Amino acid sequence: MQGLRIHALIAIVVLGLPFSARAFTLSGNLVQGGMAIGHVAPGSRVSYEGRPIRVSPDGLFVIGFSRDAKAQAMLTVQAPQGGIAKHPISIKPRQYDIQRIDGLPPKKVTPTAKADLARIRADIALVRKVRRRDDPRTDFDQPFIWPVLGRISGVYGSQRILNGNPRRPHFGVDIAVPTGTPVKAPADGVVSMAHDDMFYSGGTLIVDHGHGISTVYMHLSKILVAEGTQVRQGDVIAQVGATGRVTGPHLHWGMNWFETRLDPSLLVSPMPETAATP
Ligand SMILES: [Zn+2]
Repeated sequence: MQGLRIHALIAIVVLGLPFSARAFTLSGNLVQGGMAIGHVAPGSRVSYEGRPIRVSPDGLFVIGFSRDAKAQAMLTVQAPQGGIAKHPISIKPRQYDIQRIDGLPPKKVTPTAKADLARIRADIALVRKVRRRDDPRTDFDQPFIWPVLGRISGVYGSQRILNGNPRRPHFGVDIAVPTGTPVKAPADGVVSMAHDDMFYSGGTLIVDHGHGISTVYMHLSKILVAEGTQVRQGDVIAQVGATGRVTGPHLHWGMNWFETRLDPSLLVSPMPETAATP
Protein backbone atom coordinates (compact mmCIF):
# COMPACT_ATOMS: atom_id res chain seq x y z
CA MET A 1 0.00 0.00 0.00
CA GLN A 2 2.79 2.34 1.03
CA GLY A 3 4.59 1.60 -2.24
CA LEU A 4 1.48 2.24 -4.28
CA ARG A 5 0.93 5.58 -2.63
CA ILE A 6 4.51 6.61 -3.31
CA HIS A 7 4.19 5.64 -6.98
CA ALA A 8 0.95 7.58 -7.28
CA LEU A 9 2.65 10.59 -5.77
CA ILE A 10 5.55 10.36 -8.21
CA ALA A 11 3.10 10.09 -11.11
CA ILE A 12 1.25 13.19 -9.99
CA VAL A 13 4.46 15.12 -9.43
CA VAL A 14 5.82 14.22 -12.87
CA LEU A 15 2.51 14.81 -14.65
CA GLY A 16 2.37 18.15 -12.88
CA LEU A 17 5.45 19.28 -14.79
CA PRO A 18 4.13 20.95 -17.93
CA PHE A 19 6.77 19.50 -20.28
CA SER A 20 6.50 15.87 -19.20
CA ALA A 21 2.73 16.03 -19.22
CA ARG A 22 2.64 17.33 -22.75
CA ALA A 23 5.34 14.97 -23.98
CA PHE A 24 3.42 11.73 -23.36
CA THR A 25 0.80 10.59 -25.84
CA LEU A 26 -0.50 7.15 -26.73
CA SER A 27 -2.85 6.50 -29.62
CA GLY A 28 -4.07 3.50 -31.54
CA ASN A 29 -6.20 0.48 -30.78
CA LEU A 30 -6.28 -0.03 -27.02
CA VAL A 31 -8.02 -3.35 -27.49
CA GLN A 32 -6.96 -7.01 -27.39
CA GLY A 33 -4.91 -7.65 -30.57
CA GLY A 34 -4.32 -3.92 -31.07
CA MET A 35 -1.20 -1.85 -31.64
CA ALA A 36 -0.62 1.56 -30.05
CA ILE A 37 1.97 4.17 -30.91
CA GLY A 38 3.29 6.50 -28.26
CA HIS A 39 5.40 9.62 -27.99
CA VAL A 40 7.60 10.65 -25.10
CA ALA A 41 10.21 13.36 -24.61
CA PRO A 42 13.33 12.40 -26.61
CA GLY A 43 15.78 10.58 -24.39
CA SER A 44 13.07 9.06 -22.18
CA ARG A 45 13.11 5.39 -21.27
CA VAL A 46 9.89 3.41 -21.60
CA SER A 47 8.88 0.04 -20.25
CA TYR A 48 5.64 -1.85 -20.72
CA GLU A 49 4.63 -4.28 -17.97
CA GLY A 50 8.22 -4.10 -16.74
CA ARG A 51 9.74 -4.83 -20.17
CA PRO A 52 12.05 -2.12 -21.54
CA ILE A 53 11.07 -1.10 -25.08
CA ARG A 54 12.84 0.76 -27.81
CA VAL A 55 12.28 4.51 -28.10
CA SER A 56 13.33 6.27 -31.32
CA PRO A 57 15.64 9.31 -31.11
CA ASP A 58 12.59 11.58 -31.52
CA GLY A 59 10.61 9.79 -28.79
CA LEU A 60 8.45 7.35 -30.77
CA PHE A 61 7.60 3.87 -29.44
CA VAL A 62 5.13 1.09 -30.14
CA ILE A 63 3.42 -1.57 -28.04
CA GLY A 64 1.00 -4.39 -28.84
CA PHE A 65 -1.70 -6.23 -26.91
CA SER A 66 -2.19 -9.97 -27.09
CA ARG A 67 -5.46 -11.76 -27.89
CA ASP A 68 -6.01 -12.35 -24.18
CA ALA A 69 -4.35 -9.22 -22.80
CA LYS A 70 -5.46 -8.27 -19.28
CA ALA A 71 -7.78 -5.25 -18.99
CA GLN A 72 -5.10 -3.18 -17.21
CA ALA A 73 -1.45 -2.72 -18.04
CA MET A 74 1.24 -0.28 -16.99
CA LEU A 75 3.55 1.88 -19.06
CA THR A 76 6.44 3.43 -17.19
CA VAL A 77 8.25 6.44 -18.60
CA GLN A 78 11.49 7.64 -17.17
CA ALA A 79 12.18 11.21 -18.28
CA PRO A 80 15.71 12.16 -19.34
CA GLN A 81 15.94 14.23 -16.12
CA GLY A 82 15.16 11.06 -14.15
CA GLY A 83 11.52 11.56 -13.07
CA ILE A 84 9.36 8.46 -13.43
CA ALA A 85 5.74 8.61 -14.60
CA LYS A 86 3.39 5.62 -14.50
CA HIS A 87 0.66 5.53 -17.12
CA PRO A 88 -2.03 2.90 -16.54
CA ILE A 89 -3.58 1.64 -19.79
CA SER A 90 -7.02 0.12 -20.16
CA ILE A 91 -7.24 -2.56 -22.85
CA LYS A 92 -10.71 -3.39 -24.16
CA PRO A 93 -11.63 -7.07 -24.20
CA ARG A 94 -13.08 -8.73 -27.31
CA GLN A 95 -15.38 -11.62 -28.05
CA TYR A 96 -13.99 -14.34 -30.30
CA ASP A 97 -15.79 -16.73 -32.63
CA ILE A 98 -15.49 -20.46 -32.78
CA GLN A 99 -14.42 -21.62 -36.23
CA ARG A 100 -14.79 -25.22 -37.36
CA ILE A 101 -12.77 -26.41 -40.33
CA ASP A 102 -13.17 -29.95 -41.62
CA GLY A 103 -11.57 -31.86 -44.46
CA LEU A 104 -7.95 -30.99 -43.63
CA PRO A 105 -5.36 -33.71 -44.28
CA PRO A 106 -5.07 -35.59 -40.91
CA LYS A 107 -1.26 -35.37 -40.92
CA LYS A 108 -1.56 -31.55 -40.97
CA VAL A 109 -3.87 -31.56 -37.94
CA THR A 110 -2.23 -34.22 -35.78
CA PRO A 111 1.26 -34.81 -37.19
CA THR A 112 2.98 -37.94 -35.88
CA ALA A 113 5.76 -38.69 -38.38
CA LYS A 114 9.21 -37.97 -36.92
CA ALA A 115 10.26 -35.99 -39.97
CA ASP A 116 7.14 -33.80 -39.78
CA LEU A 117 7.65 -33.10 -36.08
CA ALA A 118 11.29 -32.18 -36.70
CA ARG A 119 10.22 -29.81 -39.48
CA ILE A 120 7.63 -28.17 -37.25
CA ARG A 121 10.23 -27.63 -34.52
CA ALA A 122 12.68 -26.09 -36.99
CA ASP A 123 9.97 -23.82 -38.44
CA ILE A 124 8.96 -22.58 -34.99
CA ALA A 125 12.57 -21.92 -33.96
CA LEU A 126 13.28 -19.95 -37.14
CA VAL A 127 10.15 -17.79 -36.92
CA ARG A 128 10.79 -17.12 -33.24
CA LYS A 129 14.31 -15.92 -34.01
CA VAL A 130 13.10 -13.66 -36.82
CA ARG A 131 10.44 -12.12 -34.55
CA ARG A 132 13.01 -11.19 -31.90
CA ARG A 133 14.39 -8.59 -34.29
CA ASP A 134 14.26 -5.04 -32.93
CA ASP A 135 15.25 -2.66 -35.73
CA PRO A 136 15.44 1.10 -35.17
CA ARG A 137 13.34 1.73 -38.32
CA THR A 138 9.87 3.20 -37.65
CA ASP A 139 8.07 1.94 -40.77
CA PHE A 140 5.13 0.87 -38.58
CA ASP A 141 4.28 4.55 -38.11
CA GLN A 142 2.23 4.93 -41.30
CA PRO A 143 -1.32 3.98 -42.32
CA PHE A 144 -1.35 0.34 -43.48
CA ILE A 145 -3.14 -0.95 -46.59
CA TRP A 146 -4.65 -4.41 -47.27
CA PRO A 147 -2.08 -6.74 -48.91
CA VAL A 148 -4.89 -8.15 -51.08
CA LEU A 149 -8.55 -7.28 -51.50
CA GLY A 150 -11.17 -10.00 -51.32
CA ARG A 151 -13.63 -11.92 -49.18
CA ILE A 152 -12.54 -12.34 -45.56
CA SER A 153 -12.86 -16.04 -44.73
CA GLY A 154 -11.22 -16.08 -41.28
CA VAL A 155 -10.75 -13.48 -38.57
CA TYR A 156 -8.28 -12.90 -35.73
CA GLY A 157 -8.71 -14.69 -32.46
CA SER A 158 -11.23 -17.40 -33.42
CA GLN A 159 -11.03 -20.56 -31.39
CA ARG A 160 -10.39 -23.30 -33.95
CA ILE A 161 -11.69 -26.79 -34.19
CA LEU A 162 -9.87 -28.60 -36.97
CA ASN A 163 -11.35 -31.92 -38.14
CA GLY A 164 -13.14 -31.98 -34.77
CA ASN A 165 -9.96 -31.34 -32.69
CA PRO A 166 -9.62 -28.13 -30.63
CA ARG A 167 -6.50 -26.26 -31.72
CA ARG A 168 -4.86 -22.94 -30.89
CA PRO A 169 -6.70 -19.77 -31.93
CA HIS A 170 -6.41 -18.27 -35.38
CA PHE A 171 -3.91 -15.44 -35.21
CA GLY A 172 -4.52 -13.49 -38.38
CA VAL A 173 -6.99 -12.66 -41.07
CA ASP A 174 -7.70 -14.91 -44.04
CA ILE A 175 -8.61 -13.44 -47.39
CA ALA A 176 -9.96 -15.92 -49.94
CA VAL A 177 -8.56 -15.02 -53.36
CA PRO A 178 -7.31 -17.21 -56.22
CA THR A 179 -3.81 -18.63 -56.46
CA GLY A 180 -1.54 -16.15 -58.22
CA THR A 181 -3.20 -13.01 -56.81
CA PRO A 182 -0.44 -10.45 -56.15
CA VAL A 183 0.31 -9.72 -52.47
CA LYS A 184 1.33 -6.13 -51.76
CA ALA A 185 3.44 -4.84 -48.87
CA PRO A 186 0.96 -3.12 -46.52
CA ALA A 187 3.65 -0.72 -45.29
CA ASP A 188 7.34 -0.07 -45.80
CA GLY A 189 9.69 -2.64 -44.32
CA VAL A 190 12.50 -5.12 -44.78
CA VAL A 191 12.01 -8.77 -45.72
CA SER A 192 13.17 -10.64 -42.63
CA MET A 193 12.25 -14.19 -43.69
CA ALA A 194 11.40 -15.91 -46.98
CA HIS A 195 10.69 -19.64 -46.72
CA ASP A 196 9.28 -21.72 -49.59
CA ASP A 197 7.75 -24.55 -47.63
CA MET A 198 6.95 -24.52 -43.94
CA PHE A 199 4.92 -27.42 -42.55
CA TYR A 200 1.78 -25.52 -41.56
CA SER A 201 2.16 -22.22 -43.37
CA GLY A 202 3.67 -23.36 -46.71
CA GLY A 203 5.33 -20.49 -48.60
CA THR A 204 5.88 -17.96 -45.82
CA LEU A 205 7.16 -14.41 -45.87
CA ILE A 206 7.84 -12.07 -42.95
CA VAL A 207 8.30 -8.32 -43.38
CA ASP A 208 9.82 -6.34 -40.54
CA HIS A 209 8.47 -2.82 -39.91
CA GLY A 210 10.80 -1.87 -37.05
CA HIS A 211 10.63 -1.86 -33.22
CA GLY A 212 9.50 -5.50 -33.21
CA ILE A 213 6.48 -5.00 -35.48
CA SER A 214 6.35 -7.54 -38.30
CA THR A 215 3.76 -8.89 -40.70
CA VAL A 216 3.55 -12.45 -42.02
CA TYR A 217 2.09 -13.86 -45.26
CA MET A 218 1.30 -17.56 -45.45
CA HIS A 219 0.29 -20.27 -47.92
CA LEU A 220 2.02 -18.40 -50.77
CA SER A 221 2.52 -20.02 -54.16
CA LYS A 222 5.42 -17.73 -55.00
CA ILE A 223 7.72 -15.39 -53.08
CA LEU A 224 9.04 -12.51 -55.18
CA VAL A 225 11.48 -10.87 -52.75
CA ALA A 226 14.62 -12.10 -51.01
CA GLU A 227 15.57 -11.76 -47.36
CA GLY A 228 17.07 -8.34 -46.73
CA THR A 229 15.10 -6.62 -49.50
CA GLN A 230 13.76 -3.22 -48.54
CA VAL A 231 10.13 -2.91 -49.64
CA ARG A 232 7.82 0.06 -50.04
CA GLN A 233 4.13 0.08 -49.29
CA GLY A 234 2.31 -1.29 -52.35
CA ASP A 235 5.27 -3.27 -53.75
CA VAL A 236 4.24 -6.73 -54.97
CA ILE A 237 6.09 -9.17 -52.70
CA ALA A 238 4.44 -12.54 -53.37
CA GLN A 239 1.55 -14.46 -54.90
CA VAL A 240 -1.33 -16.09 -53.06
CA GLY A 241 -1.38 -19.88 -52.99
CA ALA A 242 -2.71 -22.97 -51.22
CA THR A 243 0.50 -24.32 -49.67
CA GLY A 244 0.76 -25.74 -46.12
CA ARG A 245 -2.33 -26.51 -44.03
CA VAL A 246 -5.23 -25.22 -46.12
CA THR A 247 -8.48 -26.31 -47.70
CA GLY A 248 -8.17 -23.82 -50.57
CA PRO A 249 -6.23 -20.81 -51.86
CA HIS A 250 -6.18 -17.79 -49.55
CA LEU A 251 -3.80 -15.34 -47.95
CA HIS A 252 -3.26 -15.63 -44.22
CA TRP A 253 -2.12 -12.20 -43.04
CA GLY A 254 -0.70 -12.00 -39.54
CA MET A 255 1.04 -9.37 -37.48
CA ASN A 256 3.33 -9.41 -34.47
CA TRP A 257 4.87 -7.19 -31.85
CA PHE A 258 7.80 -9.49 -31.09
CA GLU A 259 6.16 -12.75 -29.95
CA THR A 260 2.78 -11.08 -29.32
CA ARG A 261 0.28 -11.78 -32.07
CA LEU A 262 -1.76 -8.77 -33.18
CA ASP A 263 -4.78 -8.27 -35.41
CA PRO A 264 -3.67 -6.59 -38.66
CA SER A 265 -7.27 -5.84 -39.67
CA LEU A 266 -7.36 -3.20 -36.90
CA LEU A 267 -4.79 -1.15 -38.83
CA VAL A 268 -6.56 -0.93 -42.18
CA SER A 269 -9.84 0.56 -43.32
CA PRO A 270 -12.75 -1.90 -43.66
CA MET A 271 -12.52 -4.23 -46.65
CA PRO A 272 -14.27 -2.49 -49.55
CA GLU A 273 -17.73 -3.99 -50.16
CA THR A 274 -16.95 -4.49 -53.86
CA ALA A 275 -13.82 -6.52 -53.10
CA ALA A 276 -15.60 -8.69 -50.54
CA THR A 277 -18.34 -9.80 -52.94
CA PRO A 278 -16.83 -10.32 -56.37
ZN1 LIG B 1 -5.37 -18.18 -41.52
